[in-house]
Amino acid sequence: MARLAVCKGCGKSLQPDEKHIHNSKSYCSDCYSSIKRYSEEYKSLIEFICVNFELDKPTGIMFKQIKELKDEFNYSYAAMTYTLWYCKEILNKTLDKKYGMALIKYYYDEAREYYEQQERLKNQVAKLENSTVITRKIKQSNSKRNNSVSLINLEKY
Ligand SMILES: [Zn+2]
Repeated sequence: MARLAVCKGCGKSLQPDEKHIHNSKSYCSDCYSSIKRYSEEYKSLIEFICVNFELDKPTGIMFKQIKELKDEFNYSYAAMTYTLWYCKEILNKTLDKKYGMALIKYYYDEAREYYEQQERLKNQVAKLENSTVITRKIKQSNSKRNNSVSLINLEKY
């Protein structure tokens, strides 16, 4: 019997059909999708930095700062990108090579609050939209019921 591969992320034994390969390491579906998401998020962060700081690639200091924000502050790459975006687009700050990622530390909480506020708004809008859909549905089913009621009534008479 062939030895089962083990997920590099969580240590779970993997059946051949649930084995996913990333950088020639095996992962389970869950770990694989979070690794995928992670590397996507990292790519977008690097891309955002290159575009907005007008660089071909982030500077060595920036890479160091990113690592520090991730390891010491436990910030996700997506949150870093969002905070930079927030500083630039909402606060109109100039993203200066000199300071690099330093803004993130100072504005992370504020950006996060802004994000949550936006999400709440979005949810409220979604709820409103849902409730109009629901009322519409209820109205429809009511009129259907009315029809059937009147049919029954007709049969009765
Ligand atoms: Zn796993």
